[in-house]
Amino acid sequence: MAPRPPVTPARAPEVRRHNLALLLGALRDGPSSRAALSASTGLTRGTVAGLLDPLVAAGVLAEGEPDRGGVGRPGTPLGFAGSGPVVVAVSVEVDGLAALVTGLDGRVVRRARHRRVHRDRDPAEVFGRAARTARSLAAGTGRPLAGAGIAVPGPVRGSDAGAVLLQAPNLPRLDGCRPAEHAAALADVPLLVGNEASLGALAHLGQAEDFVYVSADVGIGGGIVVDGRVLPGARGVAGEVGHVVIERDGRPCGCGGTGCVEAYAGLTALLADAGLPDVAALRAAALAGDTAATGALARAGSALGTALASVVHVVDVGTVVLGGGYAGLGTWLVPAVHAEMDRRGLTAGARRSVLVSPHGRAATVTGTARAVADRALAEPDLLLAG
Ligand SMILES: [Zn+2]
Repeated sequence: MAPRPPVTPARAPEVRRHNLALLLGALRDGPSSRAALSASTGLTRGTVAGLLDPLVAAGVLAEGEPDRGGVGRPGTPLGFAGSGPVVVAVSVEVDGLAALVTGLDGRVVRRARHRRVHRDRDPAEVFGRAARTARSLAAGTGRPLAGAGIAVPGPVRGSDAGAVLLQAPNLPRLDGCRPAEHAAALADVPLLVGNEASLGALAHLGQAEDFVYVSADVGIGGGIVVDGRVLPGARGVAGEVGHVVIERDGRPCGCGGTGCVEAYAGLTALLADAGLPDVAALRAAALAGDTAATGALARAGSALGTALASVVHVVDVGTVVLGGGYAGLGTWLVPAVHAEMDRRGLTAGARRSVLVSPHGRAATVTGTARAVADRALAEPDLLLAG
C-alpha cells in the first residue's frame, strides 16, 4: 500500500476565510436560506450560521421574508442588504468618464457618464477627476464603500495601488503613470487598476467561460478569458487583439507598429472608411442600405476576422464576443467575421460562436465593478471591519 501523503493541518483563519468566501460567492447568485447554503456548500448549518450571522449583524447581509412555499419549516432567505456596502468602478476613456456603483451582488445602484476631453491632460488631472467622480457617485448612495476600480485605456502591469499604466496609445501623456498615485479621493478604500478591455471581458462571464472579447473604442481592446479568468500575461498586454498584424508594412498604428488590425477595423479607421462622423450615423446609414456604410463594415469585419483567426490559433477559445462600439454593429460585422474565420487555417469549418455584447460601452464599468466585488468578497473581514 502506498504511504499516505502527510496531512497538512489547515490553519483555522484560512479555512474560515475560504468558507466565508464560498458562502458569499453562492449568495451573489441570489438569496438563499442557511439550510440551502449548507446543502450546496457541504458546510454544516452551524458553520453557515456562525460565519454569516456576524455579516447580518454588520448590515452586509439581510434576512428576507420566510419562504412558505415548501414543505416543513420555512427557510428565511439571506441576501445582500439593500443598505449594505457598495463598490464603485470608473472607466477613463479617450473622450469621457463612465462610472458605476453596484452592490456586492452586482446589482446596479447608480451610473453616470460624462464627456471629458482627456487628450493633452496629465495623469494628476485625469485620475484626480476620475477618482472624485467615482467617490461622489458612491457617496450619493449613502452606503459604505467596500472598494473601487479604475479601468484605463492601455496595458497595465500589476493590479493594485502600485499598478503602472504602461502605454496609452491614444492618451500618450498617461504613459508610464501610476493611476492610484493621483486618485486621492479613493485612497482610503481597496483600489484595483486594470485594462479597460480585460475588465470589460468579465462582464460577459455569464454568456461564456472561454472566449476572446474584442472591444472597439477609438482603437481596439481585448481580453482573453479561459476557465472564467482573464489571462493577465507577464507584462499586461495579453489580449491586446488590436495590435495583431494583418498586413506586414501596412498602415501605421498608434502603438508605433504597422499593419495592426486596429488601423483597419478600429472605430477611427472604420468611420473614415465609411465617411461618417460617428457610430450612430454609421448604423443609421447601414440600416438604410447605404452601400458605402455596409461596404466599410464588411471590410472592417473581414480585417477583424483575419486577426481573430490568428488569435484562436494561439489560444483555442470557442467564442468571440464583439463589444464596445461594435455592439450596435453586429448585424453587419458578425457575418464578415464568421466568413473570414471560417476560411482560415485550422479554424476553417470549425463552428465558433461570434456573439455581440449586450453591454455595449458599459461593459468596462460592469466588469470592473464585478472584479472589485470579487476582491471584497474574497476578503470578507474587511466588510466586517467596515
Ligand atoms: Zn498597433
